Amino acid sequence: MPIDATLPYDDSNIFARILRGEIPSKRVYEDEFALAFHDINPQAPTHILVIPKGAHVSWDDFSERASADEIAGFVRAVGKIAREHGLVAPGYRLLANVGADSGQEVPHLHVHIFGGRGLGPMLAR
Ligand code: AMP
Repeated sequence: MPIDATLPYDDSNIFARILRGEIPSKRVYEDEFALAFHDINPQAPTHILVIPKGAHVSWDDFSERASADEIAGFVRAVGKIAREHGLVAPGYRLLANVGADSGQEVPHLHVHIFGGRGLGPMLAR
């Protein structure tokens, strides 16, 4: 069920619970600003989710309210994780869904990293 990205942050969402260690995830990276883990339902050979540690519903919320350090740390983490997974030479795709039209399901900002095969057209037609 897609979320309404204008709603306030709800700290019972599943990624908040992963951040608190209440439910398991296959973690691949963690630093002061970001946590990354494998998507539970991968749509490409590499499908990693990167989330900021702060309480942000979506890219909209994050870009408006996060500190410069949080934004820089998160963006650098996404690039580092892609490099660590050998995705730069073959290429990869980043995706961040925001709100209902995008189909965003989890109301904690996450960037999908897809790679490991040709990824096809940018959007379903
Ligand atoms: P989005 O549609 O952009 O909100 O994407 C949510 C993503 O979270 C989907 O690709 C799900 O497969 C993934 N997901 C949901 N629950 C979990 C979980 N417990 N661990 C890892 N990935 C999850």
